[in-house]
Amino acid sequence: MQTKILLPESEMPTHWYNIMADMPNKPAPYLGPDGNPVPPEAMLGIFPEALVMQEMSAERWIPIPEPVREVLRLWRPSPLYRAHRLEAALKTPAKIYYKNEAVSPAGSHKPNTAVAQAFYNKQAGIKRLTTETGAGQWGCSLALAGQMFGLEVRVYMVKVSYEQKPYRRSLMQTWGAEVFASPTDMTEAGRQILKLHPDSQGSLGIAISEAVEEAAGRKDTNYALGSVLNHVLLHQTIIGEEARKQLNLVDDYPDMVFASCGGGSNFGGIAFPFFADKAAGSNVRLVAVEPSSCPTLTKGVYTYDFGDAVGHTPLMKMYTLGHDFMPPGIHAGGLRYHGDSALVSQLYNEGLIEAMSVPQLETFEAGVLFARTEGILPAPESNHAIAAVVREAKACAASGEPKTLLFNLSGHGHFDMTSYDRYFSGELENFDYPEEAIKESLQHLPKVG
Ligand SMILES: *Cc1c(COP(=O)(O)O)cnc(C)c1O
Repeated sequence: MQTKILLPESEMPTHWYNIMADMPNKPAPYLGPDGNPVPPEAMLGIFPEALVMQEMSAERWIPIPEPVREVLRLWRPSPLYRAHRLEAALKTPAKIYYKNEAVSPAGSHKPNTAVAQAFYNKQAGIKRLTTETGAGQWGCSLALAGQMFGLEVRVYMVKVSYEQKPYRRSLMQTWGAEVFASPTDMTEAGRQILKLHPDSQGSLGIAISEAVEEAAGRKDTNYALGSVLNHVLLHQTIIGEEARKQLNLVDDYPDMVFASCGGGSNFGGIAFPFFADKAAGSNVRLVAVEPSSCPTLTKGVYTYDFGDAVGHTPLMKMYTLGHDFMPPGIHAGGLRYHGDSALVSQLYNEGLIEAMSVPQLETFEAGVLFARTEGILPAPESNHAIAAVVREAKACAASGEPKTLLFNLSGHGHFDMTSYDRYFSGELENFDYPEEAIKESLQHLPKVG
């Protein structure tokens, strides 16, 4: 009875899979404030040319540079597990597999793109990177990647997380990054916010504005984003490519693939390489799982909206809850982004992938069951995928169907114990679909053209 399915380093993928080659319709272009498509040159102020090219590319396979592969080999290929003990606890005839991305040094899938982004920036002669981070997963990943390629990294960390998650901050500092509680008085955006709200606790949108402003104002500095953009999803496809090879080793193939979905890089990472099979006739179902308190795909509208709260980014066609939507404070499980990747949004709109939402208590219940059977304590974000798999496995137990289910364990939860504490002490509640807040926020959608 095999538990871990391992690939040798020599089998690590050499190319990323670009889903744009297999989409029946080209993704809608990013638009500027005038309603016209944003030219690639407009992005060169804050991104290196190689990444801008990847953002637009329609090539099916894009080579992974050797220096990137060398760093990824520190933890890749990541193991695929058969969850025998979880299956037994659920008394299900379903076979459950999970890809374990918690084995990266930063503890999640995010370094897969951080390493690639740091490499291309270094190659372009850039000396410094700026970014934002909420809970700290992305800031840690970029700090690690900056260290690997000798780039300075400055992280604007949402103030409330800076204060509540000191160990994520220490981890970023260990890897040499500078970390500031956002809003700061170092940028125009930060100063403006502080003038209006001296006690501001910060938000991802504000931190993005600060990081972008700094990168746009300095020639030696670029900006890096941890999800949403096409090139970020591209770099994550190594997850699904490896999983496909590993399932092949045990002569298996999934009926359904599940991943938690915030901005879409985790879902795209594991699911897109299976979309290639789907485009070629396979019946595999790809399911994005989101929190019912931030239900972007399942309750949002498909339209052009800003990527940040302040309205500095180009307009992207995506499922959105409105760029100033704030998820309820009671929500503990991450995945708080108001929108979703343009690629994921378009696939969902065309009925090529599925989406579902799960309430908070069910996600923690599933995460604790997973820790008690498989041993690994999952990140609260990952718990969303686990909850969806548990639901499906229970349905298989009822129907007797022996489906093969695959999900991405996107990270471990060792830095998220405050959220687990709140769950164990009964402080967390289900907070369903905040209909009024979404309605209000959707009134502020930008007019296009
Ligand atoms: C960021 C993160 C996610 C969500 O990734 P998106 O690209 O925003 O969908 C899921 N799990 C973990 C552990 C993460 O850190």
